[in-house]
Amino acid sequence: MNKIMNLVLLGPPGAGKGTQAKRLIEQYPLVHLSSGDMLRAERAAGSELGKKVTGFMDSGSLVPDELVTAVVISRIKHELSEGKKGVLLDGFPRTLSQAKDLDTAFAQIGAKIDAVIDLQLDTDLIVDRMSGRRSCSKCGRVYHMTANPPKDGVNCDDCNEPLLQRPDDKEDVVRKRLTVYVEQTAPLEAYYRQTGVLKVVDASLEIDEVTAKIQAELETIK
Ligand code: ADP
Ligand code: AMP
Repeated sequence: MNKIMNLVLLGPPGAGKGTQAKRLIEQYPLVHLSSGDMLRAERAAGSELGKKVTGFMDSGSLVPDELVTAVVISRIKHELSEGKKGVLLDGFPRTLSQAKDLDTAFAQIGAKIDAVIDLQLDTDLIVDRMSGRRSCSKCGRVYHMTANPPKDGVNCDDCNEPLLQRPDDKEDVVRKRLTVYVEQTAPLEAYYRQTGVLKVVDASLEIDEVTAKIQAELETIK
């Protein structure tokens, strides 16, 4: 299907949003926009914004809405102005306030969210996924040390560079991030169910099966 769609990947940290996004952009005309990646890039660049968000991110808290919303929405508007691809949002929105600002921004440019893919996963699996997650120090490609390991068990298949563990994937920070998800982000499920765009997908399945379920949901979009 080549229809231009705007999609949101919802789901707790570790549910597989980034993993699925990488696959979906190969099959659909979509630009992957990860708010976490954007904030990590700001930190790596040493920008003022990067300095402001560091403490929030490393402790597992959400970055305040006023710091993240403007940055993500301006990227969305920029990408959609090209008119060739839709956006695949990963990690944004994470609060009701962000979701409402996103709706307003889409309305301003005559666009809308076509589907919100809700990747659902139990807590014990989330902790396993996040503690096993490693990413390439050069290209950022994401692995899991048991479910999706690099071929030589140590280095990135693409770059041959060592894999790193994110500081916020340590178990105590993971637990804090899960509490934050339940309190601040899970209410978005009801918000999007109300508007009829929520598509629930079982994220405990194997990576290929989750992709197939998402594709099946996307095929139902008119
Ligand atoms: P998110 O972007 O939602 O935080 P990721 O895509 O980074 O999650 O996935 C978290 C970890 O779980 C990674 O190590 C990834 O390789 C692994 N993973 C993702 N999807 C699956 C799956 N369906 N089965 C097993 N492991 C998975
Ligand atoms: P992620 O890469 O999506 O797991 O995000 C990593 C961290 O970045 C989160 O724990 C938050 O501290 C911050 N972050 C990413 N996206 C948002 C957002 N939409 N709102 C607030 N904080 C965010």
